Amino acid sequence: MNNPLAISYEDIISASEVLKDVAHYTSVLTSRQADEQANAKLFFKCENLQRTGAFKFRGAFNAMRKLSADQQRRGVVAFSSGNHAQAVALAGRILNTPVRIVMPHDAPAMKMVATRAYGAEVIIYQRGVEDREAVAHRLVQEHALSLIPPFDHPDVIAGQGTAAKELFDSVGQLDYLFISTGGGGLLAGSAIAAAKLSPQCMVVGVEPEAGNDVQQSLRSGKPLRISVPNTIADGAQTQQVGQLTFPILQAHVKNIVTVTDAQLCRQMRFFAERMKMIVEPTGCLAAAAVMHKVVDVAGARVGVIVSGGNVDVDVFSSLAGTVKSFSKN
Ligand SMILES: *Cc1c(COP(=O)(O)O)cnc(C)c1O
Repeated sequence: MNNPLAISYEDIISASEVLKDVAHYTSVLTSRQADEQANAKLFFKCENLQRTGAFKFRGAFNAMRKLSADQQRRGVVAFSSGNHAQAVALAGRILNTPVRIVMPHDAPAMKMVATRAYGAEVIIYQRGVEDREAVAHRLVQEHALSLIPPFDHPDVIAGQGTAAKELFDSVGQLDYLFISTGGGGLLAGSAIAAAKLSPQCMVVGVEPEAGNDVQQSLRSGKPLRISVPNTIADGAQTQQVGQLTFPILQAHVKNIVTVTDAQLCRQMRFFAERMKMIVEPTGCLAAAAVMHKVVDVAGARVGVIVSGGNVDVDVFSSLAGTVKSFSKN
């Protein structure tokens, strides 16, 4: 018998209960101009408007809420300089759980400040000299902390799946659901939700062209490791799909596509100009694939998870300000 998958739909329901009073039930936006560009009916689930500015709060809070009282009291550790760090930090503040976040010495100062502002302790390591996982595991040993991984954990995957559950609950069945993909936590959780709530829906993962390790891994049937991809989609610079996420993707996801950094910039511009939203490059992956017709969705009902909005305003303007919008093309 094959190993069972890491989570079932019941775990997503349970995560929804855990998140009910603490996470935002984010808006679903539509746009006539987006529909015209894609030649389809699009539903944008706006996780850029989630607490801490990304869906990561869902998985982090669910995982930390499910620790024992003793584990919560001792505290948690995570290694991340991105959205997962802020998600774990806020969850810790809400649950009264001490949080340590391991970041490289050259992480952007803004990210360190934001993480500390949520009350977490930032532990700095020398990138290139030390290995961040070794640093985190030493903390786990020394202080009996619980490690909260960014995607490869059943409670994290189940938490991420609640975003897609809410989308189906809001708009009903869909023909397609497009998901930004790094280590595959959001994609795996969404695929489990879709299989239950909209079984005919084709779930499509979207990776940056420079970092298509999940696409390659699904094609070859085993998780492949790539070097750190060079892309503006910094939330999808993962080098390897998860051990728990991969079998879920093998079972439920037939299609992974890629977009270029230039397409991400154009999508950022579209969101700002037409939908009045700031969306980070990684948060644009799914939408960019639909709006550039990487998959032909003509006439279909299409869900798009806008996964995050955390981007420095100066970076935003330098990326979105240099490309042409769709209509002027
Ligand atoms: C982490 C992240 C992703 C990728 O999520 P995975 O679960 O690692 O696939 C996509 N978008 C944003 C904004 C993220 O922060």
